[in-house]
Amino acid sequence: MKRILLTVMVAIFALSSAMAQAVHQPTMGKTEIKLYHQPPHRTEIILPQVKGYTIYKGDFHVHTIYSDGEVTPRERVREAWYDGLDIIAITDHLELRSYEQYMLRAHAPYNPDGKPYQYIRGGAGNKTDHTTPIYCDLDATYDEAVAFRDKEEIPIMVVRGTEIWRNARTIGEYNAFFLKDITDVAKPDIIESLKEARRQGAIVIHNHPGWRRKTMDKSPEQEQIYAEKLVDGIEVVNGLNLYPKMIDRCVDEKLTIFANTDCHRTSAQYYPRGGEIFRTMTFILAKDCTEKAIKDALLKRRTIGYSHNHLIGEEMWLKEFLNAAVECKFLAENEKKGHRAYQLTNHCSVPFILRRGKAIYTLNPFQSIRVNFGKNKETQVYRKPEFVVDNMWTVGDKHPKFTIEIDK
Ligand SMILES: [Zn+2]
Repeated sequence: MKRILLTVMVAIFALSSAMAQAVHQPTMGKTEIKLYHQPPHRTEIILPQVKGYTIYKGDFHVHTIYSDGEVTPRERVREAWYDGLDIIAITDHLELRSYEQYMLRAHAPYNPDGKPYQYIRGGAGNKTDHTTPIYCDLDATYDEAVAFRDKEEIPIMVVRGTEIWRNARTIGEYNAFFLKDITDVAKPDIIESLKEARRQGAIVIHNHPGWRRKTMDKSPEQEQIYAEKLVDGIEVVNGLNLYPKMIDRCVDEKLTIFANTDCHRTSAQYYPRGGEIFRTMTFILAKDCTEKAIKDALLKRRTIGYSHNHLIGEEMWLKEFLNAAVECKFLAENEKKGHRAYQLTNHCSVPFILRRGKAIYTLNPFQSIRVNFGKNKETQVYRKPEFVVDNMWTVGDKHPKFTIEIDK
């Protein structure tokens, strides 16, 4: 044992002196010196176990250069891992391929026949026009992303997905993911596209429901899509935008709450890394990180939306999340001052903004605060540690009020 310890100590000494030498050595005529040896770091987002479930972090809406995004599929995979995600669905538009003409021009010599791949288009102009050809393989984004992930051994689930977009003001936009073949989903009639996604066992969500619309009420086209049960969830948060009324719709119609980035550029442009805010994402409460368990969680509505340190969800899951993340310790009872003192400790990466009357307490990640609670004037019973959580959003356009369990 002693010998092992000695060997370890010698090794540490040798290593540290080697590092010191590396820093202080003269350049010795070298042409290039590496000033920075650190590999890029992944942000670890620490979240509690909730009711026996692990919380996985997913983004089910991003774009690449294969539609109107500005980065490659492989960069989306790399970036997602750095950003702390466990799952990503790359959802390039079926109908909108902004960079295609540039690419085709560059590749013209390789495709002398100029044979188009698909005829389908819609979206931006709010017009449906099925005559503009799409030349590319719609599954290429996914194939490239997965090949890269496997080659680089990046531990992240990549999900085959697409965004279906015909008319923003009437039909709206939908993401389908856990698809088997995106090309088969490209059909002129959106109902047929959504039905095909269903046939493939995909999850379908209604994207940014307030975008380019004057009302949140369903259009006749949307009424039909919802009535035919072609939607599993709603993107209650898209990027930086929250659609509070959609929390109610999710609860009323038993749909799943999602929060996604809809990133077109690098995520760091919208969510600077190294700060206290992570990219918008969906927290998924699942047994494990297999496709089966994640789909099960999504279909059973075990999600919480996260955006800019706000948490959006059904009251039950928000309450469980808060109580799993925050430890409340009874410290002392002061009969003279008429209060009981508690210590609140936040064991997760998300802060909580706790309000009691006019007093606001910010409980930062991995820090503690002390709070006193006096007696109710009428009953003379000590008040429980109960707060309105200002950075949580739930049904009825409100922040929920929760009691934090003591000494659990
Ligand atoms: Zn999008």
